Amino acid sequence: MEKFVYQFAEGSKEMKTLLGGKGANLAEMKNIGLPVPPGFIISTAASNAYNANEKKLPQPVMDEIQIHLSELERETGKQFGSNENPLLVSVRSGAPVSMPGMMDTILNLGLNDQAVRGLAKLTGDKRSSFDSYRRFIQMFGDVVFHIPAYKFEEALSAIKKKKQYTLDTELTAEDLEQLTETYQNLYIEHTGKEFPQDPYTQLKLSINAVFESWMNPRAVVYRRLHDIDPNLGTAINIQAMVFGNTGDKSGTGIAFTRNPSTGEKRVFGEFLMNAQGEDVVAGIRTPLDITSLETVMPSVYQELMTICADLETHYKDMQDIEFTIEKEKLYILQTRNGKRTTQAAVKVATSLVHEGLISKEEAILRIEPKQLDQLLHPAFDKQALESSVVLATGLPASPGAASGQIYFDANSAVSQVELGTKVILVRNETSPEDIEGMAKSEAILTAHGGMTSHAAVVARGMGKCCIAGCAEITISEKDKTLTTISGQALREGDFISLDGTSGHVYVGQIKLTEAEVSEHFHELMDWVSDVKKLTVRVNADTPSDFKTGIHFGAEGIGLCRTEHMFFQDERIRFVRQMIVSENAEERNKALAHLKMMQKEDFIQLFRIAAGRPVTIRLLDPPLHEFLPKEKKELELLAHDMGKSLRDIEKVVHELVETNPMLGHRGARLAVTYPEIYKMQAEAIMESAVSVSSEGISVFPEIMIPLIATAEELMFVKKEIKASVQDIFERERMILPYDIGTMIEIPRACMVADEIAKEAQFFSFGTNDLTQLTFGFSRDDVGKFLPSYMKNGLLKADPFATIDEGVRLLVETAIKKGRKTNPHMKMGVCGEHGGDPASVRIFHEIGLQYVSCSPFRVPIARLAAAQAVLLAPKMLEASAK
Ligand code: ADP
Ligand code: MG
Ligand code: MG
Repeated sequence: MEKFVYQFAEGSKEMKTLLGGKGANLAEMKNIGLPVPPGFIISTAASNAYNANEKKLPQPVMDEIQIHLSELERETGKQFGSNENPLLVSVRSGAPVSMPGMMDTILNLGLNDQAVRGLAKLTGDKRSSFDSYRRFIQMFGDVVFHIPAYKFEEALSAIKKKKQYTLDTELTAEDLEQLTETYQNLYIEHTGKEFPQDPYTQLKLSINAVFESWMNPRAVVYRRLHDIDPNLGTAINIQAMVFGNTGDKSGTGIAFTRNPSTGEKRVFGEFLMNAQGEDVVAGIRTPLDITSLETVMPSVYQELMTICADLETHYKDMQDIEFTIEKEKLYILQTRNGKRTTQAAVKVATSLVHEGLISKEEAILRIEPKQLDQLLHPAFDKQALESSVVLATGLPASPGAASGQIYFDANSAVSQVELGTKVILVRNETSPEDIEGMAKSEAILTAHGGMTSHAAVVARGMGKCCIAGCAEITISEKDKTLTTISGQALREGDFISLDGTSGHVYVGQIKLTEAEVSEHFHELMDWVSDVKKLTVRVNADTPSDFKTGIHFGAEGIGLCRTEHMFFQDERIRFVRQMIVSENAEERNKALAHLKMMQKEDFIQLFRIAAGRPVTIRLLDPPLHEFLPKEKKELELLAHDMGKSLRDIEKVVHELVETNPMLGHRGARLAVTYPEIYKMQAEAIMESAVSVSSEGISVFPEIMIPLIATAEELMFVKKEIKASVQDIFERERMILPYDIGTMIEIPRACMVADEIAKEAQFFSFGTNDLTQLTFGFSRDDVGKFLPSYMKNGLLKADPFATIDEGVRLLVETAIKKGRKTNPHMKMGVCGEHGGDPASVRIFHEIGLQYVSCSPFRVPIARLAAAQAVLLAPKMLEASAK
């Protein structure tokens, strides 16, 4: 018979898929002897059975729950449903992959109008009993019947106001008793039913609701943002309650074993006395720093520190721990690998290697390549910062620097971002409903909450700059204003800047400069270099891009797009002159100018390269990107060419193509006008000769774009070789160089054996190859690709991650090419070269290099190293 429910003692941390992350870790902690309240886990198998059974809990699952509940009664000496000595439990969702704050939990289940009194009598603590009851009614109402939380908050505020309390701890037993009545009335108002008094009914409804919460909109959005399989389902933990809300020897809190923002090795956390559950995260009172627990309860503090250290050693990673203290007795309620900023991730991983807990290889696998992006991003310019006025200071919850316009709710933030605005989301505090707005904003600023508030935790996970708990500002979400203590008021749409490292908020926008990367980053990247097999080059069209790429470890240029070198105003003039030339004489005049400019650029690139290979792609201008459109541009061109405006308009009109992406570009241009590539080849080799005479070694790779046939390549190559030969003879110098081709047309893949006879290297242009394989115009995909994604017709955007069909074409080309030219260099220069998932595929199918934009170079390097480390495991797995 299938088993659906597991005792904590039956589980372990390896069983996440079945027991969920929370359950597996509760089981693990219980089994290594930590003080975890007893309980059991309803597995994800039950979640799937629930869904398969038309959203009803199957009887066998119910029966198993009953058995485990009896066991829990024995273990705790309390009875579920008893009015004298009631067993209270929490019903806690826990998915296989952590989704903090996304799903639902209910505390104090088992209470009713009778049991609450029985509990009060038993414990002699009426206050905490009714406090637990009112919390239960609210959570049950919220999770099971979606009664808006603010209804309950309003009732709570009303009574506090009436009694002139500032803190919820001031509420007396009688106040709380009254509140449970108000809450029950709210419940009846909303559901039309009495609050269920039977604990089994409470339990069943709660379990169903948690299974349903897997599909709630914010969970769906979160899974989409984090690529989490929607079919995993969630597990549910049923756990005996412990009470942090029983006076000033009790409390609840959160501890990170290291600083999740910087990675510093010191326990970091917050707690609240006389509180329960999520009180710390919700920011209802300002929590205390964990270090002050040492003075409040020294022995509990010591025990907690020891447990933090033990858990870290046991899990070999930084942990994020939930604890509760009930009358000076410490309980651990959760542990998981803590979310952290990239800066912290790199520091923690390298530190763990030095501490002997993990190997260098494990450290490399610990960092999500895409995350590195955060580290490399610009910071505020120091000078500009000094001259800026600090508006307010809050908690530096997540590092980074951002400027943008303020918006006070997540929906406005989302719609503004869609209009192209850079948004800073400003809230009193955030909640899981804000998740999409947070993801799309540049940064987040909250007035309330601490370093472990929702805003702080989520922002760190997203690698987003965040300042939390900025008490120096007052936010009116209703009026959409932000006011400082000095009375300065800002409105929706005003610019501010946040420094997530210092916690300072500034008015207006501040200039950004390049990031400084840490020694830990360099150390990690050194390990990466030792492991990876793929060479990583940079796509660079300018000296500054090339320098950035080299700074990040690029081993040469994999793609220099010569047409991009002409995008600046002064230069595009001459490209346009070349395009509209009606005869060779006109064209040669324009080309002469272009040649001079190209030589200046190439000389600089070769100097920076200092012997590293530089792949220069000859001109491939899709015409529509270069033709003049505006009157002013047309007039200038007419003037340059000494022609009338009408004549120029006519020529331009004739040049307009129906399908420019399939039009007169790449090698086709060279077939019609051989003088263009001749000029470029001369510019390249003359620059190479000149830099070589400076004593710097050079290695140019001339790359011909958009080749479909071997004949085409032979035709174009012959011209180029002849020009190069002339230069060598004239200069009395011979330099090594290669001529190769882009492989970006499906036909070229299929006849790669023929083409390989004529080429010294292949560089797969996977952008065009994807476009042409799918027949998806890159410029128009925005109109339909989203529908494909929404309907699940494509797993990933094929322009971001290499598609299966395109991969097969590349593999075919590699095989065929190597047949006729066994030692040929082959690499990728499309956008995919910087996409970690694609890099792994390129490693596996045997390419030698990838090339990507400068800021993605470290990402590609890390992904390349991970590809090596993951490959043997894959083979092992497939052998099983
Ligand atoms: P989440 O996944 O949103 O963190 P949890 O299931 O961890 O939800 O529970 C929410 C809060 O309730 C946490 O602070 C947790 O420590 C607390 N909690 C859960 N179960 C118990 C329990 N049995 N006794 C006391 N506190 C509990
Ligand atoms: Mg939580
Ligand atoms: Mg939790």
